[in-house]
Amino acid sequence: MPGLRVHITGIVQGVGFRPFVYNLATRLKLKGWVNNTSAGVDIHIEGDEANINSFIEKLSSEKPPLAVMDEITIREVPLENFTAFDIQHSTSIEGAFQPISPDVSICDDCLRELFDPSDRRYRYPFINCTNCGPRFTIIKDIPYDRPKTTMAGFALCPDCEREYTDPTNRRFHAQPVACSVCGPKVWLEPRSDEFIRQGTTEVVTTWEDDDAIQETRKLLSEGKIVAIKGLGGFHLACDATNSSAVTELRNRKLRVDKPFALMMPDLETIEQHCFVSDAERELLLSTARPIVLLKRKPESNIALEVAPRQDWLGVMLPYTPLHYLLFANPDLRPLTFDLLPLVMTSGNLSEEPIATDNDEARQRLSSLADAFLFHDRDIHIRCDDSVVRVFSHQSSVISNQLSVISQTEHATSRSIPVGRNVYPLRRSRGYSPFPVKLYREVPPLLATGSELKNTFCITNKNYAFLSHHIGDMENYETLKSFEQGVEHFERLFRVKPVALAHDLHPNYLATRYALQRSERDNLPAIAVQHHHAHIAACMAEHGLDGSHPVIGLAFDGTGYGDDGAIWGGEILVADYRGYQRLGQLEYFPLPGGDAAIRKPARTALALLWSLGLDWDERLASVAEFCAEDRTTLRVQLEKKINTPMTSSMGRLFDAAAALAGVRQSVNYEAQAAIEFEALADPLEGEKYPFTWNPPKVEVRGAVEALTADALAGVPIQKISARFHNGLAEVCRVICLELREKFGINEVALSGGVWQNITLLGRSLSLLQESGFRVYIHQQVPTNDGGLSLGQAIIAVRRLSD
Ligand SMILES: [Zn+2]
Ligand SMILES: [Zn+2]
Ligand SMILES: [Zn+2]
Repeated sequence: MPGLRVHITGIVQGVGFRPFVYNLATRLKLKGWVNNTSAGVDIHIEGDEANINSFIEKLSSEKPPLAVMDEITIREVPLENFTAFDIQHSTSIEGAFQPISPDVSICDDCLRELFDPSDRRYRYPFINCTNCGPRFTIIKDIPYDRPKTTMAGFALCPDCEREYTDPTNRRFHAQPVACSVCGPKVWLEPRSDEFIRQGTTEVVTTWEDDDAIQETRKLLSEGKIVAIKGLGGFHLACDATNSSAVTELRNRKLRVDKPFALMMPDLETIEQHCFVSDAERELLLSTARPIVLLKRKPESNIALEVAPRQDWLGVMLPYTPLHYLLFANPDLRPLTFDLLPLVMTSGNLSEEPIATDNDEARQRLSSLADAFLFHDRDIHIRCDDSVVRVFSHQSSVISNQLSVISQTEHATSRSIPVGRNVYPLRRSRGYSPFPVKLYREVPPLLATGSELKNTFCITNKNYAFLSHHIGDMENYETLKSFEQGVEHFERLFRVKPVALAHDLHPNYLATRYALQRSERDNLPAIAVQHHHAHIAACMAEHGLDGSHPVIGLAFDGTGYGDDGAIWGGEILVADYRGYQRLGQLEYFPLPGGDAAIRKPARTALALLWSLGLDWDERLASVAEFCAEDRTTLRVQLEKKINTPMTSSMGRLFDAAAALAGVRQSVNYEAQAAIEFEALADPLEGEKYPFTWNPPKVEVRGAVEALTADALAGVPIQKISARFHNGLAEVCRVICLELREKFGINEVALSGGVWQNITLLGRSLSLLQESGFRVYIHQQVPTNDGGLSLGQAIIAVRRLSD
């Protein structure tokens, strides 16, 4: 039997893979070595044939929980007659790269030690091992080794060193390994004006270590707001059952109604407040520990101010040891989590990026927090919490792509059965930078994404590395964060882009970045239409090769159209190369542009006006304006002053919600539509008549019926349901006609409006009843957070033309 050389790519570093290989080889009496390189893991084995075969088989069947093997290549090599099996030093290969593990929530073994008084890491807030802990947020470069992380400055104490170098120890080469002797520490500081109030600019009182944690618990239970440094940035925390604390946080954060995320110590607590299905439970417990949207129980005492007028709560479990220490009563045995559920919202003011740095937090969050729970393990790259929901439609399309399976397996190991129901809304901590696998190898390029909910995407080989959530690119801080992120990804994944993809919108900061860089680096810049990118993103994550087009229903709030209008209710037939716009929501005016977005009543009146329908004063949207303002608005519409035309489905939802009486102005994106959906009566079967009159979806009949219902006092619940039902029905009618005409049986649903689960569920049912194969997002968000993936795959196609 000759020797075998095995090369493995995927997430195989920082996940305990080498000790696993070492132990497996030793057990099977094989000789040779295992080695980390920047391209993956290499193994050389020699020995008995049966044992070698068994080794190869067990590589897959017994791999560590966090490892995701992408490709295994095996070739025969001459015997070198090794006498032992060794773990060799890591080697760096010029230009080589490999996927990097996302951050991983604390594992059960570490959690047990954390609360075991006899363990030397008892109550140590940074306990971790090869199966858990920070990864992506502390990595500065590859290969993933301690000197290339933000742990470089913490020299290992002899005890940690022993664990770190012992291949049989579960902390062997766990790069962030630490203990209270040698590792990072926590401390609590009051905010700076507290110092000034006490007549000194010096820090007068800080609490360290366990005292800091106990003092934080005390402040939180007294209704104070504490900034807590986490894995990917700061959170602002307060008692979620305390209305005045939550209201105070809203006031300070300048956030009127947009829901706050919650952290609860365990599943039992979550189940006191929310309904939790099996799939949701497994998602909550998964190593990614995302925020999961859960239906609120009526008896929950979570303050209504946490998520005003919504029946969903965004809830996550603790994911760091520090979180667990905050919830645990130090004096009670057995372990008791007695701190109330916490609001855990990103530590930022309004739409700025989340703060990551201690000094930055002291400055930027000083008006927001009463105190700061700091630590001294630096966050190299900011990473917000991810948000997902379970979409429990029985037969939504399950792609058989390896990418989906491995992603899901990874993202949800410990261990959700292939999480086909996962519907990501924000893909960030715990998921990023895990790649989406593409259907083929592609050239390296950078797609800069959208304006809102920005992510960017970098391709290399057959991977698309989607960035963490960057945020709304509307200010300098977010642009800076974007630029740092791009630089980091290009270094980490050894990418020198050969082209740049960007949105058609000339004024997006992401577009401008692409155009400037294209000039600076002399690279082609490829403009991609927004809704085309949405549909392509959905196709790409399902591994479609784009050899035949799909019917794409791209419904969202805003996207720049070919004709300069604001698109958003688009019916496309698209592949990666291009698209035909075969239909659209009929255009209606948006008086004042952004002013109409902030005030759906304006959109409602504009819609009525454009359809030739009366402004009946009994309608809430009409009553919202005095006679004079109505006259002004009418003149504006007639003279088309600052009144762009739109086919936006999001704006149609705004108008419908306003006409139904849900709300006339909003203080966060899509608020009216979200509240409108929350009211929909699931048992209502009637539907409003939308008409497919190619290439237009005509809304006159539906809007007439809606206003008639509103005037007749029909409950909003029924109005909402009839609106949703009508839209779902017209989607089916459109797809049937297009199938007839083009012979296409595949439909992709993408765009932010599809976050509306009521519309999604009803449309899917109708389309599937009619025999369509329907693709919905599973790996990247359906909103603009997934856009960069679509831009990338379209640009790749155009490059090869
Ligand atoms: Zn662990
Ligand atoms: Zn130590
Ligand atoms: Zn969009």
